[in-house]
Amino acid sequence: MSELLLAIDQGTTSSRAILFEKDGSIRATGQQEFPQHFPADGWVEHDPEDIWQSTLATIEEAAKGLKKEDSLAAVGITNQRETTLVWDRNTGEPVCRAIVWQDRRTSVFCEALRSANREPLVQSKTGLLLDPYFSATKLRWILDNIEGARERAEKGELAFGTVDTFLLWRLTGGRHHRTDATNASRTLLFNIHTQDWDEELLQLFGIPRSMLPEVLDSAADFGRIEADCAVRGYHVMGMAGDQHAALFGQTCFAPGMAKSTYGTGCFLVMNTGEEPILSEHRMLTTMAYRLNGKPTYALEGSIFIAGAAIQWLRDGLKLIDVADESEDHATETPEDHGVYLVPAFTGLGAPYWDPDARGAIFGLTRNTGIREIVTAGLQSVCYQTKDLQKAMEKDGMRPVNLRVDGGMVVNNWFLQFLSDLLGVSVERPRIIETTALGVAYLAGLQAGVYQSLNELSDMWRCDRAFHPTMSKIDRDRLYKGWVGVVAKLQHETGE
Ligand code: ADP
Repeated sequence: MSELLLAIDQGTTSSRAILFEKDGSIRATGQQEFPQHFPADGWVEHDPEDIWQSTLATIEEAAKGLKKEDSLAAVGITNQRETTLVWDRNTGEPVCRAIVWQDRRTSVFCEALRSANREPLVQSKTGLLLDPYFSATKLRWILDNIEGARERAEKGELAFGTVDTFLLWRLTGGRHHRTDATNASRTLLFNIHTQDWDEELLQLFGIPRSMLPEVLDSAADFGRIEADCAVRGYHVMGMAGDQHAALFGQTCFAPGMAKSTYGTGCFLVMNTGEEPILSEHRMLTTMAYRLNGKPTYALEGSIFIAGAAIQWLRDGLKLIDVADESEDHATETPEDHGVYLVPAFTGLGAPYWDPDARGAIFGLTRNTGIREIVTAGLQSVCYQTKDLQKAMEKDGMRPVNLRVDGGMVVNNWFLQFLSDLLGVSVERPRIIETTALGVAYLAGLQAGVYQSLNELSDMWRCDRAFHPTMSKIDRDRLYKGWVGVVAKLQHETGE
């Protein structure tokens, strides 16, 4: 049996495809950026044809790594989550551009539902909060604002999907309208307890059930690829939203295992096992993955600005020329220099969910220089992670360790301070393409390339582990300072 796996990773700014060997090593990759559209303040859109064409191009690129004697075992799809598409079931034609997860156009509607006290109902069923981030209000916006859309939807002519579903539909020549449980769990329409679309939520958001895809396990036979491309004839056998795929790629299969991805923003996801834990501290409850009909749940916290704070120090303040310089500055600076930078450029994410907060730098003295401000920028990402850890702890779950990935994790100083502040070990894997790897693993499980989760766990290799060395007194004192400045900042913004 052939043991190569192709992962399609359709992201927010670029589409990628990676051809993996069975041991997780990378044989070939393809990547293509595509345009972002900002038609109004707070609106973000993608052209569905760009999503499709860039995905096809990267499949062709990665498939060049296939040798004559090779054949693929399966294909997997991982994707930017929540982004909402609607298309005609007969022609495949989208009715409008995709509304991207970052788009805030439905914030007034979400606020109205919150005022009407609907959040407890929504949270108890979906694990999520009433925020424009998730798909349901975006889908409703399309039905209400695109001419004829609601009427056509009610006649069963239109299909809804997140990016995974749209790509599967196109790849299978319109034969399969399907998603997986992780992607479904980000729509606000999926009941994570019953593992089915929820009538009461469909009514609340005004969505006809006929528009929704069938929900499969994350490892399943999603369908045969019919589109004219290099992988025609193979089957899509794995599917998961990007953060869920990263959790899987980091092989966080036991409760308490967590991963954190540090790119532009940061997403901390912790496996909580077979029972969903509904957060009382504004974390999200979501699917980790679903295998053989059995759901595994997770708690998730997202930080809007992580690596973007370092970009701002580089491009906005011009304090550094390249991101790597931040490590040199921090290495030369004592940790308790007294400066706190709160990068709340677009509000604060979990656990604050404060869209109106704005950033600030506290604790400046005549001795403050570039080094302290840059160090404070790196530390801010660690303090925000600590906020998430604290919130998860209050919900009764403490990460036993943290596996990290994303662009920032090349920075060793950052990971040591993170470990010190969290008081847990931080582990960087050898293969940091964890998102694509995770969905390759899912597809490989379904295709029989891998036999068990244990087999995958054994394949995880540590590049470097960082262990906490800071005293509890120092850790508590530094973190107390952060809590104090965030409180001040929220107070000031609120006035
Ligand atoms: P995304 O997938 O969100 O585009 P990446 O995972 O590619 O992001 O990570 C890029 C981010 O990592 C950038 O925001 C950049 O500022 C940050 N970054 C890259 N190198 C370093 C470094 N040495 N130290 C700190 N941050 C870094």
